[in-house]
Amino acid sequence: MAANVLSELLARNSKFSETHTAPPDLLTMAKAVRSSGLGTVILSCSDPRLNPYQIFGIDPTIKGITMVRNAGGRALDAMRTIAVLQTIGNPSTIVVVHHTDCGMTHFHDAEIKKALIEIAPQEKDAINATKYGEIVGSIEESLEEDVGFLGASPFIRPGTRIVGLKHDINTGVVTQINETQAGN
Ligand SMILES: [Zn+2]
Repeated sequence: MAANVLSELLARNSKFSETHTAPPDLLTMAKAVRSSGLGTVILSCSDPRLNPYQIFGIDPTIKGITMVRNAGGRALDAMRTIAVLQTIGNPSTIVVVHHTDCGMTHFHDAEIKKALIEIAPQEKDAINATKYGEIVGSIEESLEEDVGFLGASPFIRPGTRIVGLKHDINTGVVTQINETQAGN
């Protein structure tokens, strides 16, 4: 590995692009996903230890998967993107993945706000008014909160299946915790 990570990434991209073949164009792909009814959004954490493509064995033979990642895999933060995806790919399923030993269980909003106010003191009021996605209870509880939040959102098409999965970072095992249908 080169000392400079960006240089290494660009070098690897150069190699990647030598054998890359162009995917279908966006409008063709979106139309196919919409008509299949199989569109699936996976919302998971930004944590580098959690690789949703590996965990679920996702490769190009599985069509219609769209990834959303943020700190904690929190629904509130992902809402804008999921709302947009509702209008493009018409996903029938939204999967929320939270994991054990998540950073958001260790770093809570009070500490995050304190650190952000040091960076941007002029934004103190806005920072204090923002939710940063802390997980203060169990992963089961955070999944209840986020699956419930998406199920009740007016931006999620009624009937969309919303599933909460817990990923054990140590064993790799994923367990379904809950499920709802939007609009119920
Ligand atoms: Zn995490």
